[in-house]
Amino acid sequence: MNQYTQEHARSYYAASARATTPYPVLDADLTADVCVIGGGFTGVNTAIELAQRGLSVVLIEARRIGWGASGRNGGQLIRGIGHEVEGFAKYVGQEGVRYLQRAGIDSVELVRQRIGDNGIECDLRWGFCDLANTPAQFAAFKDELVDLAELGYAHETRLIGPEQVRQQVVNSDIYAGGLVDMGSGHLHPLDLVQGEARLAASLGVRIFEQSEVLEIIHGPTVQVRCAKGSVRAGSLVLGCNAHLDDLEQQLSGKVLPAGSYIIATEPLSEERAAQLIPHNLAVCDQKVGLDYYRISADRRLLFGGACHYSGRDPADIAAYMRPKMLKVFPQLADVRIDYQWGGKIGITANRFPQVGRLKQHPNVFYAQGYSGHGLNVTHWCAKLLGEAIHAGHSQGMDVFSGVPHMTFPGGPALRSPLLALGMFWYRLREMLG
Ligand SMILES: Cc1cc2nc3c(=O)[nH]c(=O)nc-3n(C[C@H](O)[C@H](O)[C@H](O)COP(=O)(O)OP(=O)(O)OC[C@H]3O[C@@H](n4cnc5c(N)ncnc54)[C@H](O)[C@@H]3O)c2cc1C
Repeated sequence: MNQYTQEHARSYYAASARATTPYPVLDADLTADVCVIGGGFTGVNTAIELAQRGLSVVLIEARRIGWGASGRNGGQLIRGIGHEVEGFAKYVGQEGVRYLQRAGIDSVELVRQRIGDNGIECDLRWGFCDLANTPAQFAAFKDELVDLAELGYAHETRLIGPEQVRQQVVNSDIYAGGLVDMGSGHLHPLDLVQGEARLAASLGVRIFEQSEVLEIIHGPTVQVRCAKGSVRAGSLVLGCNAHLDDLEQQLSGKVLPAGSYIIATEPLSEERAAQLIPHNLAVCDQKVGLDYYRISADRRLLFGGACHYSGRDPADIAAYMRPKMLKVFPQLADVRIDYQWGGKIGITANRFPQVGRLKQHPNVFYAQGYSGHGLNVTHWCAKLLGEAIHAGHSQGMDVFSGVPHMTFPGGPALRSPLLALGMFWYRLREMLG
């Protein structure tokens, strides 16, 4: 299976999507207020935000809408932004931290609204549980609960011990406890991004697929060039995340592409699905290359995990992922795996997303590096980009860009080994702790 063709990866999502609307190849020279590169959640939602503010927008995607991480991810819509944002107080102050914590909640509401207001069918279900692998991780959930209460979090949350996890969330005895959050949930991500692209088109956004941007020519009017056409625009947005490659070298060294993988079982009987995850919550554990899994609308177990920095995908993803699934659910030994696929996560050095504009070219904006937690955050960053481009300023974007956008040392050749070393350190700490 080649997951890097021009078509969608052969995932469960591509096989079950309600519709994947085709868009033409860019074969003319166009002008627009804003050109957006990248047809994932970042690009599509930025285009929506801009069009809703009255700007003319051209969106260019190298393959298909949702071809990247947006159309292949775990589908878990989870509150929060980055990891441990309290640590950024020295850059953004306590007020900035508070803003980021609030945005972590409001970003889920933004997705809820986008889906609800526009009737996007994407199997949205509410309910999520963070699972602790160790008692120390479970203890940390208590602090999280206090923080949520202080922020006035409006949804049901509760801590549950190992026995309740087994009875109520995941029929497995490997967890030390959980934090249930009924304000997070899960959905069909390819249906969502495709529905959002149709919304963008209905707002007048001109969308092109199979049109890789080959060159950016900077200036007060920025020009982007594809094989058969070009766009001149007042502003440019880069929403290419882990797939940016060398299109913009000031940014590509700041994000490391890491592989994550998912398998989908055959459809399970109602009874069997309910035995595994009784209340159909999405779940994630706390390991470094975490397990994330859930039941799909047609009752398959979608089991994801791993985080590979080597640039090499496992030759047989099912053979690689199945033992991880059986560790949680040994009772699934007889179950067939129908789909297997991988995708690229954009990791940043501080695991905090990067939103801003290029210093040398202030009419070029970007959002990237969600570090594996992007479903809600892409939508929020798109809103900030919409504000900043339309009004010339966005307070929220200032807070985000207050956190340093670190460049990985050593260029592409050294980035992966360094990160692998970093992950090894975290794993070691995990094993010892
Ligand atoms: C396997 C996996 C599981 C995940 N699970 C979850 C999850 O459960 N919950 C969660 O919150 N997050 C999850 N994530 C992360 C989340 O999917 C991403 O953060 C998010 O989708 C990023 O969206 P994006 O639009 O920035 O990038 P992408 O969706 O990757 O889109 C970038 C697009 O840019 C295009 N592009 C690149 N270069 C060019 C060019 N030169 N010209 C034109 N187009 C170009 C690409 O073709 C691509 O379509 C997961 C990621 C992966 C890979």
